[in-house]
Amino acid sequence: MECEKADILMMKYMDKTITEREAKMLNKHILSCAKCKESFIIYDSIASDLGGVPVEEAPAGFTSRVMSAVAALPAYTGEGTTRVMYGVWGVVGFFAVIGALLIFLRDIILQAIDTNPIFEPIMPSVTYVAQSVDMLYMQASAVTSVALEAVSEGMTWVLPVVIVCLIAVLIVIYRSERSRKGHNK
Ligand SMILES: [Zn+2]
Repeated sequence: MECEKADILMMKYMDKTITEREAKMLNKHILSCAKCKESFIIYDSIASDLGGVPVEEAPAGFTSRVMSAVAALPAYTGEGTTRVMYGVWGVVGFFAVIGALLIFLRDIILQAIDTNPIFEPIMPSVTYVAQSVDMLYMQASAVTSVALEAVSEGMTWVLPVVIVCLIAVLIVIYRSERSRKGHNK
């Protein structure tokens, strides 16, 4: 419904000539149109202030429907916050996965680079990166140390399992986010 039509229906509401069907149409429009919602609240307060228009004569449940709709509106800010949280966790998860892969595959990558003459020109920077990774490796937390100890003791399945779990979490977040966007549009 267009705003112009909604305005006519609001006038009819003020004149108490609005039908139940028209009230439903107007209510539906107000739910999706902030501009008309604001106009309606102003019209309604004017009507109440004048005292000439008894609100009780509006179609049954109409006022309560509008009021509950208004009360439901601030929920949008909460959704925005949730989205920011998803973004933060997405970035944290991404770097955690990349970091875990780098540490886990470091020796394999370094060996491949060492034995392949193609990589000889970039060896100094590779060495630098490897040293940086080593530094991070040394500064790893106690939890990480325990996990790495487990790997050195032959429990090589620990890191792949952690990586797979992280990727699974990222996929779940990505899919729920995508489906939510699909519903909104
Ligand atoms: Zn409108």
